[in-house]
Amino acid sequence: MNFDVVIIGAGPGGIFAAYELMKLKPELKVAVFEAGHALDKRRCPIDGDKVKSCIGCKSCSIMSGFGGAGAFSDGKYNITNDFGGTLYEYIGKKHALELMHYVDEINMKFGGEGCKLYSTAGTRFKTLCIQHDLHLLDASVRHLGTDINYVVLENLYNELKDKVTFFFDTPVKTIKIIPGGYEVRVKDNAYSCKKCIISVGRSGSKWMEKICKELSIPTESNRVDLGVRVELPATVFAHLTDELYESKIVYRTEKYGDKVRTFCMNPKGAVVNENTNGIITVNGHSYEDPAMQTDNTNFALLVSQHFSEPFKDSNDYGESIARLSNMLGGGVIVQRFGDLIRGRRSTVGRMEDAFITPTLQATPGDLSLVLPKRILDGIIDMIYALDKVAPGTANDDTLLYGVEVKFYNMEVEVNKQLESCYPGLYIIGDGSGITHSLSHASASGVHVARNIAK
Ligand SMILES: Cc1cc2nc3c(=O)[nH]c(=O)nc-3n(C[C@H](O)[C@H](O)[C@H](O)COP(=O)(O)OP(=O)(O)OC[C@H]3O[C@@H](n4cnc5c(N)ncnc54)[C@H](O)[C@@H]3O)c2cc1C
Repeated sequence: MNFDVVIIGAGPGGIFAAYELMKLKPELKVAVFEAGHALDKRRCPIDGDKVKSCIGCKSCSIMSGFGGAGAFSDGKYNITNDFGGTLYEYIGKKHALELMHYVDEINMKFGGEGCKLYSTAGTRFKTLCIQHDLHLLDASVRHLGTDINYVVLENLYNELKDKVTFFFDTPVKTIKIIPGGYEVRVKDNAYSCKKCIISVGRSGSKWMEKICKELSIPTESNRVDLGVRVELPATVFAHLTDELYESKIVYRTEKYGDKVRTFCMNPKGAVVNENTNGIITVNGHSYEDPAMQTDNTNFALLVSQHFSEPFKDSNDYGESIARLSNMLGGGVIVQRFGDLIRGRRSTVGRMEDAFITPTLQATPGDLSLVLPKRILDGIIDMIYALDKVAPGTANDDTLLYGVEVKFYNMEVEVNKQLESCYPGLYIIGDGSGITHSLSHASASGVHVARNIAK
């Protein structure tokens, strides 16, 4: 065997699996194969000047490379079982929280020390929300910020680079079952290993699907979240973000009974493009360093769509809607809330007239031509509901960027050890469909590493 353990993907799941393996069993020969670049080579070419929008790089530096999709993220590590994944269904709520706290300790040790831990425990906003039929979810959140998150990753890489063999720009093409283990094929080479951890995240979702089909690993898929990213003056949400940093608020729409939720709140942050398999959607992040902060806060408003028989491909549904916005706007579309309510598109002139400066250059347009009525109605209802706890949310100049899509990888069938039907083949992180966040993905890596070390 070339290696004892091969890890596919160097996102938080893969990194924490490697870290824990090296801590518990430094004698193991471990390799990490990563489709994207090393951390210092990751650079998105969009500079707002020469390159204004996504040019579809072969390997997207936002989504791929050491640090995974989380490398330039806001670095919000939510320590909770209420959202971010369903790891607790496999390993129990107590253990899942313990692992998330352990991940937090490591982040603090590797450069995150001093970053604030926010908490919803005992907050007065819970009452305020419930008075308006809004439901604030419980969580502690460590906000590293994009800048400190990068430092932590850099330090973790320096810790691991002499202990683990890293292969960057090396996507794994196939996995073959061989006597006593697995063979991973990359470019023109093949490497054998006793155990294999797959941690390919969202960008690896199509590849994961292919592998599951080839190896007949059962999967299930029926959910996609669709919506917009809201951007407004930071002062509108300051009372909430100063105390909680991120508030996950859920609202049930009157007409359809759909759940709309706030997601990925970035106080004084920036809205950014995201490229998923060539489709441009929207996301957001913010910096810990005050010098890099903006005057705006952004967050997503998402509506969950669950499909039942016979429709199976919920991600395709999300992609089709995102493609529609790309077709009309050449990328992300932005619309003032006032224009949406008056049934008219936003124009360059109306945007220039607005009292808010957008942090992302997007095409002014009409989101009602893109988003299904049911989803748009839910978003409008939620904006009016939020206006009661954060007055100003429903102002005319509130910006809506579309579309934001939260793709869920199909859920792969694994046992409590996150091991597939093949002994020694583990599937973790967002690629397993079980986690959807930094802390859950990282915790899943630690969990598997401990089981292997045992
Ligand atoms: C802009 C942005 C902001 C975000 N902000 C937050 C946040 O603040 N808080 C939060 O909790 N979550 C956030 N997320 C989500 C978070 O980044 C993910 O949940 C997390 O990164 C999942 O970790 P992972 O290791 O499972 O997968 P990933 O981080 O996606 O890593 C998977 C890695 O596998 C590699 N890979 C894929 N296929 C192959 C292959 N065939 N061979 C080799 N390598 C492969 C990819 O290149 C990638 O580097 C954000 C995501 C984005 C895009």
